[in-house]
Amino acid sequence: MNDNSVAVLGSTGSIGIQTLDVIRSLGMRITLLSAKSSVEALEKQIREFLPAAAVMTDPATAEELKIRVADTGTKVYSGEDALCSCVRECDSQTVVNAVVGFAGLKPTVAAIEAGKRLALANKESLVAGGEYVIPLAKKRGVEIFPIDSEHSAIFQCMLASSDHDAEVDKIILTGSGGPFRGMKEFELRTVTPEQAVRHPNWNMGQKISVDSATLMNKGLEVIEAVRLFGVPTEKIEVVIHKESIIHSMVRFRDGAVIAQMSYPDMRLPISYALTYPSREFADYKPVDFATLGSLSFEEPDTATFKCLDYAYTALEMGGNATAVLNGANEVAVERFLKHEIGFCDIPRCVETALLGAAPTDNDLDGIIDADMQGRRIASVVKRTW
Ligand code: NAD
Ligand code: MG
Repeated sequence: MNDNSVAVLGSTGSIGIQTLDVIRSLGMRITLLSAKSSVEALEKQIREFLPAAAVMTDPATAEELKIRVADTGTKVYSGEDALCSCVRECDSQTVVNAVVGFAGLKPTVAAIEAGKRLALANKESLVAGGEYVIPLAKKRGVEIFPIDSEHSAIFQCMLASSDHDAEVDKIILTGSGGPFRGMKEFELRTVTPEQAVRHPNWNMGQKISVDSATLMNKGLEVIEAVRLFGVPTEKIEVVIHKESIIHSMVRFRDGAVIAQMSYPDMRLPISYALTYPSREFADYKPVDFATLGSLSFEEPDTATFKCLDYAYTALEMGGNATAVLNGANEVAVERFLKHEIGFCDIPRCVETALLGAAPTDNDLDGIIDADMQGRRIASVVKRTW
């Protein structure tokens, strides 16, 4: 097994591209690349990194990619099952999962089953399947290194304590508040997908940008933190911090609050997940506190941005309610991006799904069933605005 090599899933996306930047600067090799259907981008990446294998989950585009890269040594595979097989069989100890959405769950499970080191951007794996994924990772002795900036920050703050169960009082999860911070529901009714994807501090994929605008992203991150750090929900507090300098904090039982700060740049958490315990990322802009002047904090407006509360509700409901929430949200976001429903219909889809879904078994099939129920319900909720 080659320790200086990485498999990158979702390599054509926002996190995927930044991961390749980090890999370039670290001088690592790539054994596996994957995308859904961005054939030109994946071809370019294959020609640069010459991985042994590449997977297009969309079969039609996989055929096109095969023809395009026939002159390289890279074998092209097609479909979701092939992605999981390639994850299991690739000659890398580390897998970066930067797939967006529930589609990242099976590759996460495949990486853990194969005993790989998992650098995880795909939060939906933990939101929908955490109750299955975390015990599996523990059983297999697999470490999960979060790429989500808040969870990377919490992970770094946690290093200040050797007994988390006894010493952690609060995880303070920060969020920018998104592009619509300060707006009220009557103003949100008419916002467009184009406005929603324009985030003030981060340049991200479309789905997470909409999630940031609804505050569902913060909700998903609360669930992600519960699963990753094994803390009760009451120990997690969300604070809106519009400057995105403090990426999260942990307060310990002696009152000490440890924070991780930097200008927003996903390459820092990506790099740390790849090189932990060593810190290798060097291309940063030092935080200039004098120029910054002040940092601000406020409570999230959950009366307006209801998705954050629904995440807490799903955690309280237990079972696979978080998979229902996640599936419903994915469909609602897709429908919003297609102008099929309004921005304020997104929380309505999620709420309707949480109320309407039936309990499912607590195994992988049960999680898939819960996700499907969430999707089915959210796909028929009618537009109100
Ligand atoms: P993106 O949409 O830019 O990229 C997604 C990648 O996944 C692409 O390579 C795409 O081809 C692939 N993909 C899409 N659907 C797929 C499917 N069904 N099967 C297999 N592959 C598929 O998304 P992103 O913004 O890079 O986000 C990726 C993940 O990282 C998400 O879970 C997101 O929540 C998380 N994340 C992103 C950021 C960020 O700054 N973008 C920050 C924190 C966490
Ligand atoms: Mg985040």
